[in-house]
Amino acid sequence: MSIQQNILKISEQLPEGVQLVAVSKFKPVEMLMEAYEAGFKVFGENYVQELVEKYEQMPKDIKWNFIGHLQSNKVKYIAPFVSLIHSVDSFKLLKEINKQAEKNERVIDCLLQVYIAQEDTKTGIDEAELFELLKSEAFLSLKNIRIVGLMGMSTFTENMDQVKTEFKSLKTIFDKIREENIGDLGADFKEISMGMSGDWPLAVAEGSTMIRVGSAIFGNR
Ligand SMILES: *Cc1c(COP(=O)(O)O)cnc(C)c1O
Repeated sequence: MSIQQNILKISEQLPEGVQLVAVSKFKPVEMLMEAYEAGFKVFGENYVQELVEKYEQMPKDIKWNFIGHLQSNKVKYIAPFVSLIHSVDSFKLLKEINKQAEKNERVIDCLLQVYIAQEDTKTGIDEAELFELLKSEAFLSLKNIRIVGLMGMSTFTENMDQVKTEFKSLKTIFDKIREENIGDLGADFKEISMGMSGDWPLAVAEGSTMIRVGSAIFGNR
């Protein structure tokens, strides 16, 4: 099937309000343009340099999502144009995003990446750190970032029960933040980014509002 058909097939199965992010890391601009020409404009990239190169070559109405591990010293390269950063995993990083957003006279939407997996390799903030961050004075002083939700990555496993438990844990943390209005995020706080090629239907069933799908659209990397 073509890239266009893959996107269509997934989109058709998504409930209202669930956003598909096409993860295009390592894929050439020509492949992204195929999706773009079919009317699709939301792409996810993992590497700063690759994202900047694609941004420069592609139409300017694309919503670029950064989903990879982000180093503080590289925020400045994507701050002028990035639409959403999924992978904010420390206060230090958030502070730098705020600083660079201010320089660019904009507000950058961010998701806080929460550690939900059973493996050590996945990054993110744990639940206790997350609440502490959101309740801190220092957090409240950041005016050029907007926390619009949470992101999580499940363990890389065939065990779908485990993946389901991990997705549920992210949804539970999300609900708690909303119900107790932790961090006073209000209605801006509405996104749960979870689910990839192998597990997005499960993620959607567990309350995902953004799925990050790469290989099921563009083929294996
Ligand atoms: C690569 C990547 C994806 C997409 O993975 P697929 O299995 O190809 O769909 C999603 N999220 C993150 C954070 C990734 O690094």
